[in-house]
Amino acid sequence: MPTMGALHQGHLDLVKKCVAQADCTVVSIFVNPTQFNNQEDFKKYPSSVKEDLDLLESAGVDYVFLPEVDTMYPSSPVLKLNFGHLETILEGAFRPGHFNGVGVIVSKLFHIIRPDFAFFGQKDLQQVAIIQTLVRDLSFPIEIIVVPTRREEDGLAMSSRNRRLSDLERKTALIIFNSLSVAAKELKEGKEWLVVQEQIIRQFQEQESVKLEYFELVEREAFEIKKQFDPHQKMAICAAAYVGEIRLIDNLIINS
Ligand code: AMP
Repeated sequence: MPTMGALHQGHLDLVKKCVAQADCTVVSIFVNPTQFNNQEDFKKYPSSVKEDLDLLESAGVDYVFLPEVDTMYPSSPVLKLNFGHLETILEGAFRPGHFNGVGVIVSKLFHIIRPDFAFFGQKDLQQVAIIQTLVRDLSFPIEIIVVPTRREEDGLAMSSRNRRLSDLERKTALIIFNSLSVAAKELKEGKEWLVVQEQIIRQFQEQESVKLEYFELVEREAFEIKKQFDPHQKMAICAAAYVGEIRLIDNLIINS
Protein backbone atom coordinates (compact mmCIF):
# COMPACT_ATOMS: atom_id res chain seq x y z
CA MET A 1 0.00 0.00 0.00
CA PRO A 2 1.81 3.13 -1.18
CA THR A 3 1.28 6.32 0.86
CA MET A 4 3.01 9.65 1.36
CA GLY A 5 2.39 9.55 5.11
CA ALA A 6 0.62 12.13 7.32
CA LEU A 7 -1.88 9.33 7.66
CA HIS A 8 -5.59 9.76 8.32
CA GLN A 9 -8.64 7.52 8.56
CA GLY A 10 -8.85 7.27 4.74
CA HIS A 11 -5.41 5.66 4.61
CA LEU A 12 -6.40 3.40 7.50
CA ASP A 13 -9.46 2.18 5.56
CA LEU A 14 -7.06 0.88 2.92
CA VAL A 15 -4.84 -0.65 5.58
CA LYS A 16 -7.80 -2.40 7.26
CA LYS A 17 -8.95 -3.88 3.94
CA CYS A 18 -5.44 -5.12 3.27
CA VAL A 19 -4.94 -6.62 6.74
CA ALA A 20 -8.27 -8.46 6.40
CA GLN A 21 -7.44 -9.81 2.95
CA ALA A 22 -3.71 -10.49 2.85
CA ASP A 23 -1.32 -12.69 4.86
CA CYS A 24 1.19 -9.89 5.08
CA THR A 25 0.59 -6.14 4.88
CA VAL A 26 3.31 -3.75 3.79
CA VAL A 27 2.74 0.02 3.84
CA SER A 28 5.21 2.41 2.26
CA ILE A 29 5.63 6.00 3.38
CA PHE A 30 7.52 8.05 0.84
CA VAL A 31 6.93 11.63 -0.21
CA ASN A 32 7.94 11.13 -3.80
CA PRO A 33 9.66 14.28 -5.12
CA THR A 34 9.23 13.38 -8.78
CA GLN A 35 5.44 13.52 -8.70
CA PHE A 36 5.31 17.10 -7.41
CA ASN A 37 5.03 19.65 -10.19
CA ASN A 38 4.93 22.37 -7.51
CA GLN A 39 8.08 22.56 -5.35
CA GLU A 40 6.33 24.58 -2.63
CA ASP A 41 3.71 21.83 -2.28
CA PHE A 42 6.53 19.26 -1.95
CA LYS A 43 8.47 21.27 0.66
CA LYS A 44 5.36 21.90 2.74
CA TYR A 45 3.90 18.39 2.43
CA PRO A 46 2.85 17.39 5.99
CA SER A 47 4.89 14.76 7.80
CA SER A 48 4.15 12.88 11.03
CA VAL A 49 6.24 9.71 10.85
CA LYS A 50 6.14 8.86 14.56
CA GLU A 51 2.32 9.11 14.71
CA ASP A 52 2.04 7.24 11.40
CA LEU A 53 4.11 4.33 12.70
CA ASP A 54 1.97 4.10 15.86
CA LEU A 55 -1.22 4.09 13.78
CA LEU A 56 0.12 1.42 11.43
CA GLU A 57 1.30 -0.77 14.29
CA SER A 58 -2.12 -0.59 15.98
CA ALA A 59 -3.80 -1.42 12.66
CA GLY A 60 -1.83 -4.68 12.44
CA VAL A 61 0.56 -3.76 9.62
CA ASP A 62 3.48 -6.20 9.31
CA TYR A 63 6.08 -3.99 7.62
CA VAL A 64 6.54 -0.30 6.92
CA PHE A 65 8.85 0.66 4.07
CA LEU A 66 10.26 4.12 4.75
CA PRO A 67 12.98 4.72 2.19
CA GLU A 68 15.20 7.78 1.73
CA VAL A 69 15.05 9.69 -1.55
CA ASP A 70 18.59 8.50 -2.46
CA THR A 71 17.55 4.88 -1.97
CA MET A 72 14.65 5.18 -4.37
CA TYR A 73 16.55 7.40 -6.79
CA PRO A 74 20.30 6.61 -6.74
CA SER A 75 20.24 8.54 -10.01
CA SER A 76 17.49 10.54 -11.68
CA PRO A 77 15.30 8.25 -13.77
CA VAL A 78 15.69 8.78 -17.50
CA LEU A 79 12.61 6.71 -18.31
CA LYS A 80 9.42 8.68 -19.04
CA LEU A 81 6.02 7.07 -18.81
CA ASN A 82 3.28 8.53 -20.95
CA PHE A 83 -0.31 7.57 -20.18
CA GLY A 84 -1.85 8.77 -23.44
CA HIS A 85 -5.08 10.76 -23.16
CA LEU A 86 -4.94 10.58 -19.33
CA GLU A 87 -2.05 13.06 -19.54
CA THR A 88 -4.23 15.63 -21.29
CA ILE A 89 -7.23 15.84 -18.97
CA LEU A 90 -7.92 16.85 -15.35
CA GLU A 91 -4.90 16.06 -13.14
CA GLY A 92 -2.83 15.21 -16.22
CA ALA A 93 -3.46 18.63 -17.73
CA PHE A 94 -3.10 20.65 -14.52
CA ARG A 95 -0.10 18.76 -13.10
CA PRO A 96 2.31 18.13 -15.99
CA GLY A 97 4.72 15.29 -15.20
CA HIS A 98 2.74 14.19 -12.14
CA PHE A 99 1.60 10.87 -13.54
CA ASN A 100 5.06 10.05 -14.87
CA GLY A 101 6.32 10.47 -11.29
CA VAL A 102 3.49 8.35 -9.90
CA GLY A 103 3.97 5.63 -12.53
CA VAL A 104 7.72 5.35 -11.94
CA ILE A 105 7.54 5.30 -8.13
CA VAL A 106 4.65 2.82 -8.02
CA SER A 107 6.50 0.55 -10.48
CA LYS A 108 9.59 0.69 -8.25
CA LEU A 109 7.49 -0.10 -5.16
CA PHE A 110 5.77 -2.99 -6.96
CA HIS A 111 9.19 -4.43 -7.91
CA ILE A 112 10.59 -4.05 -4.40
CA ILE A 113 7.56 -5.24 -2.40
CA ARG A 114 6.16 -7.73 -4.97
CA PRO A 115 2.61 -7.60 -3.64
CA ASP A 116 -0.28 -9.83 -4.76
CA PHE A 117 -2.77 -7.03 -4.11
CA ALA A 118 -2.35 -3.28 -4.00
CA PHE A 119 -4.88 -0.92 -2.47
CA PHE A 120 -5.65 2.54 -3.83
CA GLY A 121 -8.24 5.17 -2.82
CA GLN A 122 -11.15 6.25 -5.00
CA LYS A 123 -10.32 9.76 -3.76
CA ASP A 124 -7.61 9.82 -6.45
CA LEU A 125 -9.85 8.46 -9.18
CA GLN A 126 -7.65 9.33 -12.14
CA GLN A 127 -4.67 7.82 -10.33
CA VAL A 128 -6.63 4.56 -10.19
CA ALA A 129 -6.97 4.68 -13.99
CA ILE A 130 -3.22 5.34 -14.22
CA ILE A 131 -2.35 2.39 -11.97
CA GLN A 132 -4.71 0.10 -13.88
CA THR A 133 -3.01 1.13 -17.12
CA LEU A 134 0.42 0.54 -15.57
CA VAL A 135 -0.51 -2.94 -14.32
CA ARG A 136 -2.10 -3.90 -17.64
CA ASP A 137 0.55 -2.50 -19.97
CA LEU A 138 3.54 -3.72 -17.94
CA SER A 139 1.93 -7.06 -16.92
CA PHE A 140 2.39 -6.63 -13.18
CA PRO A 141 0.86 -9.77 -11.58
CA ILE A 142 -1.01 -7.60 -9.07
CA GLU A 143 -4.71 -7.18 -8.35
CA ILE A 144 -5.68 -3.55 -7.81
CA ILE A 145 -8.34 -2.97 -5.17
CA VAL A 146 -10.11 0.38 -4.98
CA VAL A 147 -11.37 1.63 -1.62
CA PRO A 148 -14.16 4.27 -1.26
CA THR A 149 -13.36 7.80 -0.19
CA ARG A 150 -13.41 8.44 3.55
CA ARG A 151 -14.92 11.82 4.47
CA GLU A 152 -15.06 14.08 7.48
CA GLU A 153 -18.51 14.32 9.12
CA ASP A 154 -19.46 17.36 7.04
CA GLY A 155 -18.40 15.64 3.80
CA LEU A 156 -14.92 17.06 3.16
CA ALA A 157 -12.77 14.28 1.68
CA MET A 158 -9.97 13.36 4.08
CA SER A 159 -6.58 14.41 2.77
CA SER A 160 -3.15 14.92 4.29
CA ARG A 161 -3.20 18.41 2.78
CA ASN A 162 -6.28 19.31 4.90
CA ARG A 163 -3.83 19.76 7.79
CA ARG A 164 -2.49 22.83 6.05
CA LEU A 165 -5.91 24.56 5.90
CA SER A 166 -6.66 27.40 8.34
CA ASP A 167 -9.97 27.17 10.24
CA LEU A 168 -11.61 29.52 7.76
CA GLU A 169 -10.18 27.67 4.75
CA ARG A 170 -11.35 24.38 6.25
CA LYS A 171 -14.92 25.74 6.23
CA THR A 172 -14.55 27.22 2.75
CA ALA A 173 -13.18 23.91 1.41
CA LEU A 174 -16.59 22.33 1.90
CA ILE A 175 -17.73 24.06 -1.32
CA ILE A 176 -16.02 21.24 -3.22
CA PHE A 177 -18.02 18.39 -1.69
CA ASN A 178 -21.23 20.44 -1.59
CA SER A 179 -20.92 21.30 -5.28
CA LEU A 180 -20.26 17.66 -6.20
CA SER A 181 -23.33 16.59 -4.18
CA VAL A 182 -25.61 19.23 -5.73
CA ALA A 183 -24.37 18.40 -9.23
CA ALA A 184 -24.89 14.65 -8.74
CA LYS A 185 -28.42 15.23 -7.41
CA GLU A 186 -29.35 17.51 -10.30
CA LEU A 187 -28.00 15.09 -12.89
CA LYS A 188 -30.08 12.30 -11.41
CA GLU A 189 -33.12 14.59 -11.59
CA GLY A 190 -32.54 14.94 -15.31
CA LYS A 191 -30.86 18.34 -15.56
CA GLU A 192 -28.44 18.86 -18.46
CA TRP A 193 -24.79 18.45 -17.41
CA LEU A 194 -23.57 21.60 -19.18
CA VAL A 195 -26.20 23.69 -17.35
CA VAL A 196 -25.25 22.13 -14.01
CA GLN A 197 -21.53 22.63 -14.70
CA GLU A 198 -21.97 26.28 -15.66
CA GLN A 199 -24.00 27.02 -12.54
CA ILE A 200 -21.34 25.39 -10.31
CA ILE A 201 -18.48 27.23 -12.02
CA ARG A 202 -20.33 30.50 -11.42
CA GLN A 203 -20.76 29.68 -7.72
CA PHE A 204 -17.01 29.02 -7.41
CA GLN A 205 -16.26 32.35 -9.10
CA GLU A 206 -18.23 34.10 -6.35
CA GLN A 207 -15.84 32.71 -3.70
CA GLU A 208 -12.72 34.85 -3.66
CA SER A 209 -10.52 32.49 -1.67
CA VAL A 210 -11.25 29.47 -3.89
CA LYS A 211 -9.91 28.93 -7.38
CA LEU A 212 -11.57 26.12 -9.30
CA GLU A 213 -9.31 24.27 -11.73
CA TYR A 214 -11.85 21.83 -13.12
CA PHE A 215 -15.31 20.44 -12.49
CA GLU A 216 -15.92 17.71 -15.04
CA LEU A 217 -18.14 14.75 -15.79
CA VAL A 218 -16.12 11.61 -16.52
CA GLU A 219 -16.92 8.17 -17.89
CA ARG A 220 -14.92 5.92 -15.58
CA GLU A 221 -14.09 2.89 -17.73
CA ALA A 222 -12.26 4.71 -20.53
CA PHE A 223 -11.73 7.69 -18.21
CA GLU A 224 -12.96 10.28 -20.69
CA ILE A 225 -14.60 13.66 -20.18
CA LYS A 226 -18.28 13.70 -21.22
CA LYS A 227 -20.62 16.56 -22.07
CA GLN A 228 -23.78 14.57 -21.30
CA PHE A 229 -24.85 12.37 -18.44
CA ASP A 230 -25.72 8.81 -19.40
CA PRO A 231 -27.30 6.77 -16.59
CA HIS A 232 -26.21 3.56 -18.36
CA GLN A 233 -22.53 4.47 -18.21
CA LYS A 234 -20.24 4.40 -15.18
CA MET A 235 -19.78 8.06 -14.46
CA ALA A 236 -18.23 10.33 -11.86
CA ILE A 237 -17.86 14.05 -11.30
CA CYS A 238 -14.30 15.13 -10.60
CA ALA A 239 -13.18 18.45 -9.16
CA ALA A 240 -9.96 20.22 -8.23
CA ALA A 241 -9.67 23.61 -6.56
CA TYR A 242 -7.21 25.74 -4.67
CA VAL A 243 -8.46 26.83 -1.27
CA GLY A 244 -6.00 29.58 -0.45
CA GLU A 245 -2.68 27.95 -1.38
CA ILE A 246 -3.83 24.38 -0.84
CA ARG A 247 -4.85 22.32 -3.83
CA LEU A 248 -7.60 19.81 -3.09
CA ILE A 249 -9.25 17.20 -5.28
CA ASP A 250 -12.41 15.19 -4.84
CA ASN A 251 -14.94 13.22 -6.86
CA LEU A 252 -18.33 11.57 -6.56
CA ILE A 253 -19.28 8.38 -8.32
CA ILE A 254 -22.77 8.81 -9.71
CA ASN A 255 -23.63 5.26 -10.71
CA SER A 256 -21.55 2.26 -9.69
P1 AMP B 1 -1.44 9.61 -0.38
O1 AMP B 1 -0.74 9.41 0.93
O2 AMP B 1 -2.21 10.87 -0.49
O3 AMP B 1 -0.52 9.37 -1.56
O4 AMP B 1 -2.53 8.45 -0.45
C1 AMP B 1 -2.20 7.11 -0.32
C2 AMP B 1 -3.39 6.27 -0.71
O5 AMP B 1 -4.50 6.58 0.16
C3 AMP B 1 -3.87 6.57 -2.15
O6 AMP B 1 -4.27 5.37 -2.77
C4 AMP B 1 -5.04 7.49 -1.92
O7 AMP B 1 -5.99 7.45 -2.97
C5 AMP B 1 -5.62 6.93 -0.63
N1 AMP B 1 -6.43 7.95 0.04
C6 AMP B 1 -6.07 9.23 0.33
N2 AMP B 1 -7.09 9.89 0.90
C7 AMP B 1 -8.13 9.02 0.99
C8 AMP B 1 -9.48 9.09 1.48
N3 AMP B 1 -9.98 10.20 2.00
N4 AMP B 1 -10.25 7.98 1.41
C9 AMP B 1 -9.76 6.83 0.87
N5 AMP B 1 -8.50 6.69 0.38
C10 AMP B 1 -7.70 7.76 0.44
